[in-house]
Amino acid sequence: MWVVMKITCLYVLLFILFSSTTFADDRFKDVKIEAKQVNDNVYVLYGAGGNIGVLVGDDGTLMIDDQFEPLAPKIESALLEVTKAKNTKITYLVNTHYHGDHTGSNNYFAKSASVLAHENVRKRMSVNNKGIGLPVVTYEQGIKLHLNGERIHVKHLAAGHTDGDSVIFFEKANVWHLGDLFFESRFPYIDVKSGGSVAGYINNLDSLVSQINDDAQIIPGHGKLTDKKAFKRFVDMIKATKGIVKRQKQAGVSKQQLIDAGLGEKWKVWDWSFITEKRWIETLYDNI
Ligand SMILES: [Zn+2]
Repeated sequence: MWVVMKITCLYVLLFILFSSTTFADDRFKDVKIEAKQVNDNVYVLYGAGGNIGVLVGDDGTLMIDDQFEPLAPKIESALLEVTKAKNTKITYLVNTHYHGDHTGSNNYFAKSASVLAHENVRKRMSVNNKGIGLPVVTYEQGIKLHLNGERIHVKHLAAGHTDGDSVIFFEKANVWHLGDLFFESRFPYIDVKSGGSVAGYINNLDSLVSQINDDAQIIPGHGKLTDKKAFKRFVDMIKATKGIVKRQKQAGVSKQQLIDAGLGEKWKVWDWSFITEKRWIETLYDNI
């Protein structure tokens, strides 16, 4: 009897393991990694999850964020194809924050890369993690890298999307990767449970508007490569919708009433599958 039970348990365990692996593979089976050159030796890679930024050159390859683990081999081959380089083994990997759609392939790339991130990224990733793929270089304010003729500024910004956000600036190429401080043409996700803050998010956006010049190219955390004009539109949208919610809340309108009424036709285009208009109203209403 005992043996039968043990065998049954084993079958159940195997089934769970097998089906979750199958599910993960299925989910990413049709995902294509599309690579696009941004400037000289800087590239952006789209797939599923946060956008990837890459700097290639003789000194080594630096990658920003890495989506999901089942996509890692596809990310590698897309990189080889677009750069025509013989070797694109990742030397440095920077995580803009700890979310799984930006750090999912850390285990895979950590075989060749040193992983860098803000101190809080390591802290949050350490929960239930056996230590593989964790950032091995952490910083508080930021760090600079000097690679392939580029000066790469990795700057931490105070609690915004999470409490461990970094943005990356390629000085010579004039390219920024803003992580999830920028969702191109869509409402942003602000992860208050992970130390994010609406007020902090807006402060960070203001600070970035003053740092980014008009000719810069910007890689958003989600959405397409774009420019400062589009970034300013995003900032204006956040301020305007926050203003609407604040005024309504102060006038005694309940959260549900506001959700039912909506923010107005003008802002509907920013709604998307993950952060719907309803969810954006909830974020604002609960945190201002
Ligand atoms: Zn995120």
